[in-house]
Amino acid sequence: MIWNEPIETMPRDELQALQSERLRKIVAYVYERVPFYRQTFDAMGISPTDIKDIRDLPRLPFTKKSDLRDHYPFGLFAVPMKEVIRIHASSGTTGKPTVVGYTRDDLEVWAEVCARSLALSGAKPGDMFQNAYGYGLFTGGLGMHYGAEKMGLTVIPVSGGNTARQIMILRDFKPDVMACTPSYALTLADRLLDEGIDPAELNVRVFILGAEPWTDEMRRELERKLHVDAVNIYGLSEIIGPGVSNECVEAKNGMHIMEDHFLPEVIDPETGTPLPEGEVGELVFTTLTKQALPLIRYRTGDLCSITYEPCVCGRTHARMSRVVGRVDDMLIVRGVNVFPSQVEAALLTVEHLTPHYVIVLDRKQHLDEMEVHVEVSEAFFSRVGQELFQRHPVEVVDDLRMLEERVKTTLREALGLNVGVRLLPPGKAPRSEGGKLRRVIDNRVLK
Ligand code: ADP
Ligand code: ZN
Repeated sequence: MIWNEPIETMPRDELQALQSERLRKIVAYVYERVPFYRQTFDAMGISPTDIKDIRDLPRLPFTKKSDLRDHYPFGLFAVPMKEVIRIHASSGTTGKPTVVGYTRDDLEVWAEVCARSLALSGAKPGDMFQNAYGYGLFTGGLGMHYGAEKMGLTVIPVSGGNTARQIMILRDFKPDVMACTPSYALTLADRLLDEGIDPAELNVRVFILGAEPWTDEMRRELERKLHVDAVNIYGLSEIIGPGVSNECVEAKNGMHIMEDHFLPEVIDPETGTPLPEGEVGELVFTTLTKQALPLIRYRTGDLCSITYEPCVCGRTHARMSRVVGRVDDMLIVRGVNVFPSQVEAALLTVEHLTPHYVIVLDRKQHLDEMEVHVEVSEAFFSRVGQELFQRHPVEVVDDLRMLEERVKTTLREALGLNVGVRLLPPGKAPRSEGGKLRRVIDNRVLK
């Protein structure tokens, strides 16, 4: 189903007229209410009346994460605190978190875009929904929660973690839809298989996965293991939280952006110049309707491309590709740009490997070294183990060495870089305990 058909299938010229009207309003609004924007506009010699329609967008200044940090915690809010009825904060791996606020209308918009996301993923009113995104300051849990209630789902607010309880609920309550991070979905899938639980026994048909990068290879793996549709959802606290964009289950080919609320651009991260449709660059959003924390041209740091091609599902809203990396998380190894998603995609093309891996970076004699630690499959491991008794140990070691060589070659071809490989026995790579998983360990600092 399409949750908001008139909006989501609106002809593009009408949608652009709506975006232009809202852009004019929000620009006047921030100029009026947020000293930071007034000062920036004044310094650039821009008056809100200069902005006539969405084609004028490139004239506006960017907003960066550091601007939020510089005005920590509430300095960019555009309404008095008594109108802010909810606060969230993003984890912020370095220093203080990024704090965001919502008015009552903002929460209504958020529930609306999350309801759309659920419908995009294939959820229907009456479905039961196991929400395993973290509840709390993190936007994932509560964001999806209110969207699901708005749609009329039966919400199980289990939050993240506690795998035994998640599995009990999956088996006993028999939810139709589940949401969590992709790395946690993998933890769940493996645990189900370990415990000999046949996914066919469960009722769940869709997993809505996001909050961290993942790949189509991972999707195939999860869909095969869990017998579900695995659908990608994207969002960030600064813009609203989950529900900024979501794939339609019909195409699973790019996430429809809720363009009537969040106006997207893709720019060259070096120069700031807007890039043409289809080119990969940094994703930038202007919030068109937010009241408490409206942001103009916010630089997400996420790298992706956007297409305006019509979609089989009938929606007209633009689609963004998977996030292929982050401007700041791009690893530069001996001068070569590497994204963890490339490593994941390459690993999953090799038989006998699992999607459990970590990338370890180090510096030896001023040279970057990259090592990928990846787990071999249980089946491969036990076969090698059994054969130890039947075959000469040297042959068995050769088996492992051949696999290691194959992984090295695959990575070299995919990345254009020589990479060390360490094969780990099943269960030895870190697992998601419920939230986002850290896959890169960079020990190069100060070396
Ligand atoms: P935190 O900063 O606490 O991790 P956020 O939810 O604000 O919380 O993080 C948002 C970021 O998470 C995005 O900018 C993006 O990098 C990442 N992210 C969210 N959803 C996806 C997704 N589907 N694919 C890839 N990355 C995602
Ligand atoms: Zn679609």
